[in-house]
Amino acid sequence: MMRLPPFTYLAPVSVADAVKLLSDHGREAMPVAGGTDLYPNMKRRQFEPSVLVGLRGIRELVGVRGTGGTGLAIGAGTTLTATSRHAEIARNYPALATAAGLVSTPQLRNMGTLGGNVCVDTRCNYYNQSYQWRKAVNFCMKKDGEICLVAPGSPRCWAVSSSDTAPVLWSLGATVRLVGPEGERAVPISALYRDDGIEYLAKLPEEIVTEISLPPADGLRSAYLKLRRRGSFDFPVLGVAATLAMDGDVVRQARIVLGAVASLPREAAEASALLAGERLTAELIEEVATRAARPSKPLDNTDLTHPYRKKMTRVFVARALRRLAGLPEQAAHGDSRA
Ligand SMILES: Cc1cc2nc3c(=O)[nH]c(=O)nc-3n(C[C@H](O)[C@H](O)[C@H](O)COP(=O)(O)OP(=O)(O)OC[C@H]3O[C@@H](n4cnc5c(N)ncnc54)[C@H](O)[C@@H]3O)c2cc1C
Ligand code: SF4
Repeated sequence: MMRLPPFTYLAPVSVADAVKLLSDHGREAMPVAGGTDLYPNMKRRQFEPSVLVGLRGIRELVGVRGTGGTGLAIGAGTTLTATSRHAEIARNYPALATAAGLVSTPQLRNMGTLGGNVCVDTRCNYYNQSYQWRKAVNFCMKKDGEICLVAPGSPRCWAVSSSDTAPVLWSLGATVRLVGPEGERAVPISALYRDDGIEYLAKLPEEIVTEISLPPADGLRSAYLKLRRRGSFDFPVLGVAATLAMDGDVVRQARIVLGAVASLPREAAEASALLAGERLTAELIEEVATRAARPSKPLDNTDLTHPYRKKMTRVFVARALRRLAGLPEQAAHGDSRA
């Protein structure tokens, strides 16, 4: 059995106190929300903070404000269960309700938070292993080692962004609010991610994600599809998020964002642009899906083969767009519950 290492748990009741504690303890400290990712990672010694700053007691981080008409602000400490079941989210931003409802298992969704999901660690077959396993292969550069075991000549880590909600929030045009020692800032969620398997978040370690804001839902249609081996609790090995802003039956703006194909959510911008000003025909959807698969470049470091995951990108994009167009979806492999 893997055990947690010893650590000190601090329980602030305000964001300001949490930021101060993180700043005071520097690199020794990490924030923890539901702990559903961080605690297993600590058991495997992928993270070794001596101080955890718990966010669970901070009431201002929990809850959903606003309406689909005005836009929503979702507290980072809102659980995935609450996110997936919130009536206003399910009605106006169905892709987010779907993605939150497909994360891991009911128990973990009851503990896991939206903020934790947005910040969840990147994954790799050579990294998400016990300490002994990693030691046996002489570690890798993401933790304790020197080289990348997937691409030994590479100067960087290619661990995979594996959040279900991040690609959806990106496709919806979400903004995140960050509070740190220097104050507060709001950034588009697309600016929160870096193309690096180790330093995958573009934020200071002591900055806390406090809120995720969604724009007004007027004319928005959204869908999320997830590929994984076991529908009961696996991480995504491909996620496809598609959001269309419609003027009647004409697409005003489209955003297709791919999850689990790179170290950050990957926007298929060129393919999305083909939809602007157009009606959703079966032919156009096929063309867009083919283009959208181009930026999908999965490596051989998660479940299922990478050529298959690349191939399924086209299939899932087509299926998501057909759903949004009200066309029948074609049968294909993978998790189609989304
Ligand atoms: C068996 C299993 C299956 C899983 N399957 C999935 C899956 O299918 N899809 C998926 O997306 N995830 C999955 N997860 C990972 C995890 O359960 C979720 O990502 C969950 O949403 C993490 O939220 P949390 O609140 O528990 O985060 P924590 O574990 O508390 O934290 C995760 C990371 O985010 C940081 N953090 C947390 N909150 C904040 C904040 N407000 N501001 C700044 N940093 C913060 C922490 O420091 C840590 O680095 C799985 C985990 C397990 C164990
Ligand atoms: S991509 Fe390479 S460096 Fe990154 S976790 Fe995997 S093996 Fe390690």
